[in-house]
Amino acid sequence: MSRRRTTKSTANTKAPNDGTAWGHLSDADLLKQVAAELARRRVARGALDLDAIESFSEGSQQDFGQETLSATVAALGPEDSSPKPCPKCGVPVPVKTHNRVRHVLTLAGEFRLSRNYHYCRRCSAGFYPRDLELKLPAEGEVSDAMERRILDFGINDTFESSAERWSIHYRHSISSNLVRRVVDRVGVRCEAARELALQRACNPAPAEPVPALVVASDGSMLLTREDAWREAKVAVVAHLTPGRDGAPHEVSSPRFAAILGGKVEFSSAVAAALAAERADEVPLVAWLGDGAPSNWTLASELCPFAIQILDVIHALQHGNDCGKALLGEGDAALPLWAARIEQLLAASNVDLLVRELLDCLPFTTTDAHLGALDDLIGYYRTNEHRMQYRRFRELGLPIGSGIVESAHRHVLQARMKRAGQRWGLVRGRRMARLRAAYRTAGPRRFHRALREAHFVQARPPPQRPLPNGPRRVNRTYTLGRGSPINRRNASI
Ligand SMILES: [Zn+2]
Repeated sequence: MSRRRTTKSTANTKAPNDGTAWGHLSDADLLKQVAAELARRRVARGALDLDAIESFSEGSQQDFGQETLSATVAALGPEDSSPKPCPKCGVPVPVKTHNRVRHVLTLAGEFRLSRNYHYCRRCSAGFYPRDLELKLPAEGEVSDAMERRILDFGINDTFESSAERWSIHYRHSISSNLVRRVVDRVGVRCEAARELALQRACNPAPAEPVPALVVASDGSMLLTREDAWREAKVAVVAHLTPGRDGAPHEVSSPRFAAILGGKVEFSSAVAAALAAERADEVPLVAWLGDGAPSNWTLASELCPFAIQILDVIHALQHGNDCGKALLGEGDAALPLWAARIEQLLAASNVDLLVRELLDCLPFTTTDAHLGALDDLIGYYRTNEHRMQYRRFRELGLPIGSGIVESAHRHVLQARMKRAGQRWGLVRGRRMARLRAAYRTAGPRRFHRALREAHFVQARPPPQRPLPNGPRRVNRTYTLGRGSPINRRNASI
């Protein structure tokens, strides 16, 4: 493998020979000459160690970028005032306002652009031909390349920490509110995109349906500002590939759906993930869940032919809870109780399991004992067909819901459940969707996928007001330690 890590120069190596002062030099030669001259001057100013060389090189890049940017914008020349074709209907429309100024933050620095505004009465829409020519984003104060980078920080870390970490990587600093605005704007785009289009953009649908899929869904609680704890639901749909030599299936290519909201929204998000995998045509679908009835309702609605599997850990846990209720916490016989349940579950012998539990009936002395036993038997009877672990193992299917528990951790908790975090509902809902798309697409594809999905089939964005970030206010009043309006708790 080559040890060379420096990227090759992309500068043009052909001289234009257009009769200008530098016309005899190609872009690459011009760059070399400027670099050599700058280096000569820097060496003349004093000794250089590696740190100084690196810092000089980085500074030159920055200066050069800034100069190139200003020169290129200046070279665009003034806009002429002739009527320009409306991007919607194509009819030329005259200028309505001259020289409207816009500031755009780019990787090379900030640039100021003054351009003409045209208004088409027929379409009742205004446009800036120069913005269209430069392909500037319609809204916002950052270029597309900046947006992609800011988003990468804001999707992985708190807005404050993102702004701080930004300054380690780049010379110009950004504010936490800019990170917040960028994430908000992209979040609106994410919410406006059709779910199926977004799933396909994040992770292209397979050309042919895969032989087997696993689906798992689960909920966990998130702290919100409006009504304390709200349930956030996560679902994962992944490919199951047969393991070698009879080993269990391997899980790969997961796609996620995450919703902070109601059942209907969650159901449609999971349906989109399934549709993207063409689940209707997949011969084997396994749906894993804990005992929550809503899971099975969802499974029956969206994937009636799926094999439903009760997470084995939950099945064991229920058995152990009953054992504790009957024998008492810390009883010496508890490990034996747990081992027997595990043995019968592994053999998929639910009938014998229930019979042995019924044999315990004469030993119950209180209502609590009877209740615990009755609950457990009911639970096992209801889920009997979901506890055929021996058959599931033979088919190579997973029987533990570790896949969705880990999804909870890396899709939601890594960003949304940090110490002291409280989410406003609007922003929390957006972040949950963004995180699912981010984890499905991966960091490299994420930003492009959102754009693609938005342009493919946009639907009108929901009209919800955007709350501003917490303002910096000078207060002299000190809040009590346990005060519910403690600002540290209130900021995201
Ligand atoms: Zn028009």
